[in-house]
Amino acid sequence: MVELDRRQALITVAAAGAGLLAGGAPTLLRATRPRVAPKKTAKSAVRAAQHGPPRDPGYARGPLQALNKPVHNLRDLAPAAPPNAVALTVDDGPHPKWTPIMLDLLAEFHVSATFSLIGEQVAEFPKLVQRIVAAGHQVSDHTVTHPLDLPQLGTARIREEIGGAHDRIAQTTGVAPKFFRAPGGAWSHQVLDTATEHGMISIDWQVDPRDWARPGTTRITDVLLHAQAGDILLCHDGGGDRSETINALRTVIPALKQRGLTFVAL
Ligand SMILES: [Zn+2]
Repeated sequence: MVELDRRQALITVAAAGAGLLAGGAPTLLRATRPRVAPKKTAKSAVRAAQHGPPRDPGYARGPLQALNKPVHNLRDLAPAAPPNAVALTVDDGPHPKWTPIMLDLLAEFHVSATFSLIGEQVAEFPKLVQRIVAAGHQVSDHTVTHPLDLPQLGTARIREEIGGAHDRIAQTTGVAPKFFRAPGGAWSHQVLDTATEHGMISIDWQVDPRDWARPGTTRITDVLLHAQAGDILLCHDGGGDRSETINALRTVIPALKQRGLTFVAL
């Protein structure tokens, strides 16, 4: 019973956090669903944890999704994000050192983000994933092992990579991920179709400071400062020393806010 209550609490917190978008709509995409929202019960929470929630054909895919392409810009999602919105995506975690530092930074600036999680690390650090969700951030499937050649792998392996991370995130958080990001942005029709089959929307990016390569805090800062309304920004909390990323965001987040931009989770 305690377990059920905890999951229910996580779902409630996640729903409240996602509600930052579009004037309190549950999520950017769910806002287009029929008005009658299904009631989350402890039973449905268990089912979500085991199998993911029932497929919802009401999700709007946006024009690019209909063309079987990943979403690059918030304008490609429906309904549209607030006109001044940008989305920060944080990839390759959870990481025992850098994810907590990233979470503290985002909390300090009252920013919601989307974390693209690697399945193997989700299994290793479940409490970090639960902390991400409890803080109101969105989570995204980033495959089980982060293969940069995902489109070249066989059908079975692609399904394992995408479906495996999806299920691990759902089991860990009680919430099935609604977004998928291919490692290295390596897309194919099969990758996109597999993500869609799991009820996920494929998300790419527009602003990439290549922070994973550690080009220096100044370089990361300069690239991120070019963000415009609607842009999806790519940063990392996994894959190595992320101190440059953290230091850059410490400058970039208040600067973009100063320009009237609002950070939203997907
Ligand atoms: Zn990645």
